[in-house]
Amino acid sequence: MNPTAESDTTADIGLAWDHRFATLGPDFFTELRPTPLPSPHWVGVSTNVAALIGLGNAWMHSDAALQAFTGNTLPTGARSLSSVYSGHQFGVWAGQLGDGRAILLGETVSGWEVQLKGAGRTPYSRMGDGRAVLRSSIREFLCSEAMHGLGIPTSRALCVTGSPAPVRREDIETAAVVTRVAPSFVRFGHFEHFAANGLEPQLRTLADYVIDRYYPECRVPTALGGNPYAALLQAVSERTARLMAQWQAVGFCHGVMNTDNMSILGLTIDYGPFQFLDAFVPGHVCNHSDTQGRYAYNRQPNVAYWNLFCLAQALLPLIGDEELAKAALESYKVVFPEAFMARMRAKLGLAAVREHDGTLIDCVLLLLAQNGVDYTIFWRRLSHAVGSSDFEPVRDLFADRAAFDTWLLSYSELINHDGSAVAANLMLKSNPKFVLRNHLGEQAIRAAKLGDFSELQTLQRLLERPFDEHPGHDAYAAFPPDWASSIEISCSS
Ligand code: AMP
Ligand code: MG
Repeated sequence: MNPTAESDTTADIGLAWDHRFATLGPDFFTELRPTPLPSPHWVGVSTNVAALIGLGNAWMHSDAALQAFTGNTLPTGARSLSSVYSGHQFGVWAGQLGDGRAILLGETVSGWEVQLKGAGRTPYSRMGDGRAVLRSSIREFLCSEAMHGLGIPTSRALCVTGSPAPVRREDIETAAVVTRVAPSFVRFGHFEHFAANGLEPQLRTLADYVIDRYYPECRVPTALGGNPYAALLQAVSERTARLMAQWQAVGFCHGVMNTDNMSILGLTIDYGPFQFLDAFVPGHVCNHSDTQGRYAYNRQPNVAYWNLFCLAQALLPLIGDEELAKAALESYKVVFPEAFMARMRAKLGLAAVREHDGTLIDCVLLLLAQNGVDYTIFWRRLSHAVGSSDFEPVRDLFADRAAFDTWLLSYSELINHDGSAVAANLMLKSNPKFVLRNHLGEQAIRAAKLGDFSELQTLQRLLERPFDEHPGHDAYAAFPPDWASSIEISCSS
């Protein structure tokens, strides 16, 4: 096979397609074919995602699927395309971007868009090579499934395939392709693109498409003057607010919250330099390229609001009323704190809402920060402590034990009042034992580079069910090793 030519053959891989994004027309995308990669091999597969999109498990062992999900053949009936979008990157208008290395194969009849990431250059690649490396592809694969396991809205990952083809980043690495799945990959940046170019008919077409497909309730006359575009902005603001509450509660840092990485469906998308917090450092910046700390952990909720503001500006020509747009946007400021508090209450095992919950939560977060306590371990130990009434393992995490004891006193009163068994049960379902820490991903990547995918599979199995105990795998729930802090994750992927 000539690895530079576009794939020109098709193969049946048992998927039935429907192409609804493609009906939008050529202003929205360019039809093209993936560029093949030589000698592909399987790296990781999610049988859950295969089942989700109606793909029989046997296909995920077939050479036909291996070639198709590497971009070497086109699944029968696929209509492959890359979409155009623009966006704000690090707070600055970046102009046109687009799917520079993502190629949509289409939408399955069951409503899942299937996209190859790293399948070659597109008209939107700019200076890029259209490729993704094995390292970042494994991170995206594992994190997509980890987030889903945590109950956090996300694009899913069907599989990763690898190829010996060299890809130049800081070092020479090898190529991989992640097959991603989501109901839609439309971003805030898609709207910004048409608004910035004064293409109002296309802007309206896109908004109508998104409303009719994903937010039909926005057509129902609402408090927002029966304006479906304002209703859309409000619905997206609320979903984004709930997503941010989940990120913050679990200690997830996205790393590149540019408007082109914000899903119109409120999904976590475009996994790059993300990180789950080890020690609770509120100002933690996981992206080595983010020198200003714009996307620090504790800034994420405000950044999401800023991004929604950009979306509001883009939708303004359709909404036609600035006050209405502001009102829609303001819902974020109501929903985020409510959703965050609800998540934190669940983490604390508090079933009832009480006036001073906010203080209790602020205090414990302050203590975690002051003592540099491991975020995931703290919550999991606290969950077990509430069940067993032995708080010593939690207390051990704090250098300032007196301060912890003071907090524990007021917390225990609430728990004793509500009943500790009920609380512990809620907590064990709200505080995961396993998260995709950087060093765990790194171990799986190092092994995979040597052709050993067992570590990836183990990690995948744990992360798919992160609230289960998984006896014999405590090492994956332990403190990070010293070398973890030296891992540098940048935008390079
Ligand atoms: P990201 O920050 O990864 O979301 O990417 C921002 C923009 O750069 C998007 O338009 C991507 O499609 C594009 N891009 C990133 N990496 C590459 C690459 N290796 N080749 C082509 N385009 C890329
Ligand atoms: Mg992106």
